[in-house]
Amino acid sequence: MSFGLGDGKAMEPIGPAAERTFAKDKADWDTTLKEVDQVPQPDDQNLRSIAEDLKRRNRPGFWWKFRKTEHLVGWLLHRGTCVYCGKDLIGEQYIRHGWATTDHLLPQSQYPDLDRCPLNTVPACSACNCLKGGLDPSEAPADEPCT
Ligand SMILES: [Zn+2]
Repeated sequence: MSFGLGDGKAMEPIGPAAERTFAKDKADWDTTLKEVDQVPQPDDQNLRSIAEDLKRRNRPGFWWKFRKTEHLVGWLLHRGTCVYCGKDLIGEQYIRHGWATTDHLLPQSQYPDLDRCPLNTVPACSACNCLKGGLDPSEAPADEPCT
């Protein structure tokens, strides 16, 4: 499957399989990986191996924090690093202390349909997510330098 990143093609629609949400009591890693496989993802990413690496580096229940499979896929696409500051959020302390969040790049309040798009659900540390708040990057002035 392809996201069509940069090649002018539209992203494939997310099908019924991806509409499922993670169950609270889901503890089976193999089931989690199968859910990941069902979400459209870029061809050049081996998300399964990234997921296995993520699992090795964190406690087994890491994926329970994700309500939706697409959010986990968004995390995998960025290898669990904050998209704003680059912090590695896979370290257990970030998860345990609630310092790891999933941010909607384009705010969920204005783009509710993108909640199911892994490209819009990205890992962010709680500090960066708080600073960003409800900012809509598509409305930010492009010609003002950041100082
Ligand atoms: Zn950050």
